[in-house]
Formats: sequence, structure tokens, C-alpha cells
Amino acid sequence: MARGDRPEHKCGIFGIYAPHEDVARLTFFGLYALQHRGQESAGIAVSDGRRIHLHKEMGLVAQVFNEEKLRPLKGHIAIGHTRYSTTGSSRLQNAQPFVVESALGPLAVGHNGNLTNAPQLRRELLQRGVGLTSSSDSEVIIQMLAGGEGRTWEEKLRVFMSRAEGAYCLTVLTRDTLYAVRDPWGLHPLCYGYLGNGGWVVASESCALATIGATLERELAPGEIMAFDERGPRTIAHSPAPQRAMCLFEYIYFARPDSIIDGQTLHAARVAAGRELAREAPADADIVIPVPDSAVPAAIGYAQESGIPYQEGLIKNRYIGRTFIQPDDRLRKLGVQLKFNPLSDSLAGKRVVLVDDSIVRGNTSGPIVRLLRDAGAVEVHMRVSSPPIRHPCFLGVDMATYPELIAHRMTLPQIRDHLGVDSLAYLSLEGLIRATGSANKGFCHGCFTGRYPVDVHFFEKEVFEA
Ligand code: AMP
Repeated sequence: MARGDRPEHKCGIFGIYAPHEDVARLTFFGLYALQHRGQESAGIAVSDGRRIHLHKEMGLVAQVFNEEKLRPLKGHIAIGHTRYSTTGSSRLQNAQPFVVESALGPLAVGHNGNLTNAPQLRRELLQRGVGLTSSSDSEVIIQMLAGGEGRTWEEKLRVFMSRAEGAYCLTVLTRDTLYAVRDPWGLHPLCYGYLGNGGWVVASESCALATIGATLERELAPGEIMAFDERGPRTIAHSPAPQRAMCLFEYIYFARPDSIIDGQTLHAARVAAGRELAREAPADADIVIPVPDSAVPAAIGYAQESGIPYQEGLIKNRYIGRTFIQPDDRLRKLGVQLKFNPLSDSLAGKRVVLVDDSIVRGNTSGPIVRLLRDAGAVEVHMRVSSPPIRHPCFLGVDMATYPELIAHRMTLPQIRDHLGVDSLAYLSLEGLIRATGSANKGFCHGCFTGRYPVDVHFFEKEVFEA
């Protein structure tokens, strides 16, 4: 299996049941708030009680939708999806939501995550004579639901959960009901809230609820299936794994800082990680600067704890989209110069603590360090608010393969020399988990430790072993 054919990746999902609202438009704004979770394609499916109307295309939410595209999407229930960009799999067939006709009527599904037993489930469907049109495991999910055992959608969802392994947050749209499903490990976030006037909203992150004026009710529990219809919200099943395994990378980088997980904003968790980092790895320096924008909270935390003043040292051009840069390694490297300009007034003659939230391939930090030195920084001490990433993610974050991961290939002193920094330190796993404020709840730390909460052998063997 080529890397680009990995079944599914980190995505943004959204769902709304609101009989008195323009649900397509609200979904559009919800997806806008989730754009950071996926920039490859966007789609909205709406049910009017009889039929499901769909529009999806490659591109950013604002490129895919306009008045003309939203107008035909009439109804009272909707789901929406933004899909993450990955090399090779940028194809419209993989865009979501998927929609099919079934014996119980039309069905649409939006999926965030990665089923680790997808190859087996795919084979079983093909053997049963079910045709598949894409390489996406989300299509496997919708076909399992449409043609699977069970007399009702609720039964079908339960049967699906008994067969599926790995990461899946789903929004499922039928003629008259919105369902939301979170996998038994709670690998990725999913929450719901009240919109008022009988309307309910489900989203990958609470920032999408806030954007459309809905109030966060709570996160779905690991293994929970919820239904939203004219009877209001209700839990129809709850089958958690023995231990929750929430993705730590959501805390470090992926989710938006204003989103709330386990009762605190990710901004607060990232500030706490910066504080932990300053305690674990102090530096003798004049200023603390972040790699904008994602490391800003961690740098604030580092500065607060160390007493070294926080400053802006790099200005990021926010209009250079990731989409254009990401697929090509050469462009990715050039991307650093395209994206950041140093502020020489802040940097000249200074000993700098440079805080980043993560080092993945190691392509970003080296050029940034050179920019800082060229702008007059006399020392650069790199501090990273997560542990070294030594293993790929098989559960929904498009991270990198073993050979691409710098901490898989090199020791810490080698990385330090490769990046050209005076010192380098990473946050410990214990420090990071402490910073989440939910130490006793259970996390997936596979990318740091190689210990995953579920069996990942299908992917480890076929795709990633160096
Ligand atoms: P690199 O080490 O060159 O792969 O890039 C690490 C930088 O990219 C850090 O500044 C992170 O904030 C950011 N980053 C981490 N994970 C991802 C990801 N999955 N997609 C895009 N950027 C990421």
C-alpha cells in the first residue's frame, strides 16, 4: 500500500439537527471553524426528511461553498466534513461526506480517524460483492452500515462498533436523525452542544459550536452513540474500552487553542506544557520566542515560569496555505523561508529560547534557527513542548513514516547539531500528561513510545517499517 493510500486521516466533522434553521449555512460556518483539521476537501450533506442533498469538492471550505452551492442544500438536518491533505490521496472520490441509498433509506457519513482493521473489513465487503469506489476507510464504514446486520440504524451502528477497531468519530445522517459516534478509546475529540430553539450541534471541537452560537453541553464519552431528532438528544449505546486513549497530539498541536477538552481550553493546557518545560529544561537566555502560531501558548508558559521575557521574534505570513507547500519535501523546506520573517530589532545580540510545540520531520526548525542567527541572535536554545516523535501515527494523524521522523533516525545530540542550536530539550511524557490536567484519564502516546492502544500490525507491516 502506498503511503498516499493510507485509508483516512485527521479530519473535521460537524453535524446539526435544527428544524428552524438554515442548517447548510450553519454547517458551512461550523466547517470554517474546523478548517485547521483538514484543507483538502469539504462537503455538506443535508436531509429534508425525504432525500439527502450533497455537495462536496476539493479545496478549502470557502472555495467549495458559495451562495449558489448552499442554496439547494435545503433541509433540517446536516452533516459536514473537512478532509486533511495528504500526498497522493488528493482525490474527489475520497472527499466526504459519503452518501448511499440503503434498504432503510438514504444515509450519509462523515468520519474522522483511521480504522486499524480496515484492510480486513474491506476484504470482507469485497467478498460479499459490495463494490467500493475509493481507497478511504470511511467508505468501508458507510457500506458496513448500509448493508450490515441490524433492523434499525441503532442496531446497525452497534454491530459496526463491535467489528471496528481503531479511531473513528462519526456523524451519521439518515432521513430523520443525526447520530454521533465516538470510538471506545476516545482517540479523537467529539462534543455536542445546544443551539436553542430545539437545535443541537455535534462537532470535532467546541470551537465550531462557539462559532455558530451553540453552548457546549459535553464531550461524547468513549464508546458512546448519541441520537439527535425531534425527541432531543439521547445516548443509545455506551461501550467504552477498558482504558481511554485520547490522542496527545490533539493537545500539542492539532486542535485549536480555544477548543475545550476535559474542561479546559487547549490554550491553557499548552501554557501549562510550556511551564513544565521551563521547569524540566531551564535555559540561560534573554528572550523567549515562539514558532508562530502553534507554539505561542507554550512559549508564554515557558516565559511565565522562567521569568525570561516573552517576545515575538518571527512574523508568519498567514496567507501561505499549507496545501500548496505540504505534498513536496523540497517545497516544504523552502516553505519555511516563504512563511517566516525574523524581527531583527528583537533578536540582535540576544540569547534566544526558541519554543516549538513539536519536531516531526525536522525540516522546519533548522531553517528557522538560521533565520534567527542571520537576524543577529547570538545563541539559540531550542525547547520543544512535546517528547521526541519516534513512531508514526496509525490512528488518524498524518504525521510521517519511520524514515522521515528525525527522532527515529537521530539521537538528541545529533538532532541538536543538525538543527544548529546551542542546546536542545524536549518535554517529558510525564510533564506533557501533567499539563493536560487529566493525568488519570488515559492517553494515546503511540507516536512517542510506539505503544498503541490497539493492534496496528496491518499498517506497521505494510506501510511503515523502514
Ligand atoms: P517538521 O519538524 O519540519 O516536520 O515540522 C514541525 C512543525 O510543524 C511544528 O512547528 C509543528 O507545529 C508543525 N506540525 C506538527 N505536526 C504537523 C502536522 N501533522 N501537519 C502540519 N504541521 C505540523
